Amino acid sequence: MKRILVVEDESAIAFGLQLDLKNEGYDVEIASNGESALRHAQKEAYDLILLDVMLPRKDGYEVCRDLRRVGLKTPIIMLTAKTHEAEKVLGLETGADDYVTKPFSPRELRARIKAALRRTAGDDVPAYRFGDAEVDFKRCELRRAGKPVDLTALEFKLLAAFVRNGGKVLSRDQLLDLVWGHGAFVTDRVVDNHVVTLRKKIEPDPSKPRYIISVRGMGYRFDG
Ligand code: CA
Repeated sequence: MKRILVVEDESAIAFGLQLDLKNEGYDVEIASNGESALRHAQKEAYDLILLDVMLPRKDGYEVCRDLRRVGLKTPIIMLTAKTHEAEKVLGLETGADDYVTKPFSPRELRARIKAALRRTAGDDVPAYRFGDAEVDFKRCELRRAGKPVDLTALEFKLLAAFVRNGGKVLSRDQLLDLVWGHGAFVTDRVVDNHVVTLRKKIEPDPSKPRYIISVRGMGYRFDG
């Protein structure tokens, strides 16, 4: 059973999260302030930390920075009420892995948690299934209804990047880095073209994508 530490001072929200995540099969503990979060996280092994930004005395950013400073590698998802882009960037710069903006839907949060846990599991996960598709990381193969689908190496890398970051918006720049590598001489347009061909291979209806979603002005999000 995966263990999650919820750091939130508002008890109604904390207990709501605890209940929801317990129903999902996670073991959940609550810390109601930054100091208690630091103590908990250093004493016990958690698979993931949900960290609210708005905490009394020590805010979530400071807590996150302190946790990374002592060498803690546990994935951290920040819960932020702020929608301003700069605040999100600050969260990631302090060492958080992801952020979810309040108010969030339980479904969105669950997807982010799953994706963060999947990233830590890394290549230990042999295959990932969505719809009738199966992504086989060991064989670098995509199958639909059990039959191999013809994918180029780049298309597979792109698909793998989406699956490993499920539920999270990836900008074209991030996709270029993840798939083509730093410093590759390709344009955003190349990303879009590859998304189009990938959709033809994985979407039931490529004109109405349900797995690789376009997020206007931001990039793409995989909802598998
Ligand atoms: Ca709070």
